[in-house]
Amino acid sequence: AKIQEERLAYLRDERRIKAVMVVFSDLEGRLHMLDYDKKFLVNSYDNLTFDGSSIRGFTAQRESDLRLAIDWAAFYWTPADVFGAGKVLVFGEVIDKNGEHYAGDLRGVLKNYAKEQFDKNGYHLNAANEIEGFLFEGIDAERSFHELGSFEYVNKGGYYHSLPGDPLREFIDTTAEVQRAMGFENEKDHPEVAPSQFEINYTYGDVVMAADQIQLYKLICRQVATQMGMTASFLPKPVTGVNGSGMHTNVSITKDKTNLMWDPNGEEKTSKFGWEFVDRILTVGSDLCVVLNASVNAYRRLDPHFEAPNQIKASATDRGSMVRIPIGNAKSARVEVRSVGPDANPYMVLYTIFKTGLDGEIAKIENLRQAERYLPDNIYTALEDFNKSEWVTTILGGDVKQRYSDLKQASADRCPRLLGTIVKPCEIQFHHDVY
Ligand code: GLU
Ligand code: MG
Ligand code: MG
Repeated sequence: AKIQEERLAYLRDERRIKAVMVVFSDLEGRLHMLDYDKKFLVNSYDNLTFDGSSIRGFTAQRESDLRLAIDWAAFYWTPADVFGAGKVLVFGEVIDKNGEHYAGDLRGVLKNYAKEQFDKNGYHLNAANEIEGFLFEGIDAERSFHELGSFEYVNKGGYYHSLPGDPLREFIDTTAEVQRAMGFENEKDHPEVAPSQFEINYTYGDVVMAADQIQLYKLICRQVATQMGMTASFLPKPVTGVNGSGMHTNVSITKDKTNLMWDPNGEEKTSKFGWEFVDRILTVGSDLCVVLNASVNAYRRLDPHFEAPNQIKASATDRGSMVRIPIGNAKSARVEVRSVGPDANPYMVLYTIFKTGLDGEIAKIENLRQAERYLPDNIYTALEDFNKSEWVTTILGGDVKQRYSDLKQASADRCPRLLGTIVKPCEIQFHHDVY
């Protein structure tokens, strides 16, 4: 409430601001944006309604009126040269007619869960995401792929390759600058292994903020690329024969400033608490797969020859394992879930990972962390595992589970299957995860 008063007072007084971008995400994780005139928003922030029936995965028509509340803590200043002059951005929360967080808005679900864990156990849930992407020539390269049949790299690069004046480096520098202006604490950025591939890392944070910043990261990359006449693509595997793009999701839990994942005497310096968290995730690795790998295309990425995982294992070193324990210390100890594509719904990803890691069951499988078990290698199998999972029903609720499953089934069915192989150009049709 205090932060709300402060922000409202600020908006009233700051004459240079004329509009507020209010963003929220649909069930598949696409970001939606409404621009409100500042004066209108300041007067009507507690009565913003919208038609949920036009948002995929939200409501049926007869219950379409939803409300948008403002999460004043998730407030960002946006640089004028990239977002237009006189604007700020804030995250909205979708509220149902009873005044509760709407179940189809996974941001609210994640926020409720984080609060519950803090109230009940004093836990702070933290996340850091390493988001890889490609920069391609031409705006809207994902759509023109259908005519051209290929993507055009902007450089020949390679890992850590960067020269001043290289378009990829220019893109990375500009994006990092926008992030800094918006309050991301950058750590390091670099061209990734594949030509024209990038990764721009920033610090970890509270789980809701971390999920918001995934959405902002992709938005910023897309804006900057468009201004350069290029496309930032977060397709998990846009080009065959080279590395795809992952969104490694690093998670830790702190209590009274102590990192509960850390134990200097534990296996891989990871605590019993940390290993149990991992075991619960491995137990339902297949059930959660279509949440973490949410598109037809995502399954082409899951190939250990390209540093992406295909096995439901945990390891300190093997990048073909779904879960890895990166080297850390008392502060940075964490669990890295590698089998996440950058086109997944970040709120759903983080919610299912934390909820499972903390509240799930541990399977009685011998040598669970090393047993030979594979992730689904296509979206159809992943959907079957998702649909029959009781754990998924427990954590998402039957209604949201069904809606998500229907959307993913529809997207998969849009890709004709030829003798079990998925025809390439169709894979990315309708893929765009931002409107
Ligand atoms: N690009 C790889 C992936 O698809 C990851 C490479 C890395 O470990 O940074 O997940
Ligand atoms: Mg990387
Ligand atoms: Mg990583």
